[in-house]
Amino acid sequence: MAVDTSIVRDAVALRHQLHRQPEISNRETGTARAIVDFVRDHRPDEVITGLGGTGVAAIYRGAAPGPTVLFRSELDALPIDEPNDFGHRSQHAHVSHKCGHDGHMTMVAAIAPLLVRSPLARGRVVLLFQPAEETGDGAAAIRRDPRFAAIAPDYCFAIHNMPGYPLHQVLTREGTFAMASVGMAARLEGRTSHASQPELGVSPASAVASLLGELPSLGDTSDIDQFRLVTLTHATLGERSFGIAPGVAEVLATLRAAKDSDLQSLKTRAVAMVTQAAKAANLSLDVQWHDDFAATMNDPEAVRLIVAAAESLGLHSQRLPQPFRWSEDFGLFTQVSKGAMFGLGAGVDAPALHSPDYDFPDELIGTGLGIYRELIAKLLG
Ligand SMILES: [Zn+2]
Ligand SMILES: [Zn+2]
Repeated sequence: MAVDTSIVRDAVALRHQLHRQPEISNRETGTARAIVDFVRDHRPDEVITGLGGTGVAAIYRGAAPGPTVLFRSELDALPIDEPNDFGHRSQHAHVSHKCGHDGHMTMVAAIAPLLVRSPLARGRVVLLFQPAEETGDGAAAIRRDPRFAAIAPDYCFAIHNMPGYPLHQVLTREGTFAMASVGMAARLEGRTSHASQPELGVSPASAVASLLGELPSLGDTSDIDQFRLVTLTHATLGERSFGIAPGVAEVLATLRAAKDSDLQSLKTRAVAMVTQAAKAANLSLDVQWHDDFAATMNDPEAVRLIVAAAESLGLHSQRLPQPFRWSEDFGLFTQVSKGAMFGLGAGVDAPALHSPDYDFPDELIGTGLGIYRELIAKLLG
């Protein structure tokens, strides 16, 4: 059964409103306010604001006790200019919703009017709008917030739209759905000298050269279950000059693995490699970690529920042979409850996520909302 057209129509209007007023990670105050205004019109039992920074949670309780089911979405947009000229284009310079988080928020927010029409028999539904997914901070901040304990879920679900797949296709996978990753910044410090007398200084040049060659060799992409990848992302050596032999260098790389434990061992091996290179060249070393994402691990029961929901709506679902290589901080929620993230195809020819001409397809709002409604009916009906 399709979702009521008036609910979908209001949801599309909300999506356009959110798209016009995008905000980057950890600055999503106006977006959070718009979400609170929307859900408050649909009589939640409780609304928590300022969760993990700018986050919002709306809570609906059933008549009888039962499990807590959490639906998670993301408040943040990206620092990307929008060249599109449609009516709902971004009104904020250099910021736009290019990952479809406006659509994800809308599908979660539109559960609110559904629950007014069909109140819960039992348990609780938590509609979660987290800050800062793009930087990997938001889910961690929500987990750290002392008020998270009161909404800790038994089941959690999230959708990400997926350009490159047929519109409305449901993409699932048990186990790793999106990979763990972390950014490593290694700073190597020796001593500058006059370029005419490099022997008086300590240059990091040879250490950088060996690391640029060797760090990627720690990866192994041949077996998807043991997948490890090291991507060099940035490097600097000394100043842009001809008179100074360099004293400082920095090498940045992103480490990626299909499992959290494999990422840990990859980190250990990368640190051993840079430590060895620094020691061999008599350099001091400082290693900093950034953009830390846990793997998004999907629970088999949660995946079965999603596939059954898709079937009951007559949607085609596909079990992905491989996890997505990118990372998502939703993995921090599947660490503490049964849950799964699933993809919704956004169209084979749709522009890629984070590309300037991308826009979330409004046709998906009714589809995602329909799946959420089926999941609620199965778990709390
Ligand atoms: Zn993104
Ligand atoms: Zn995203």
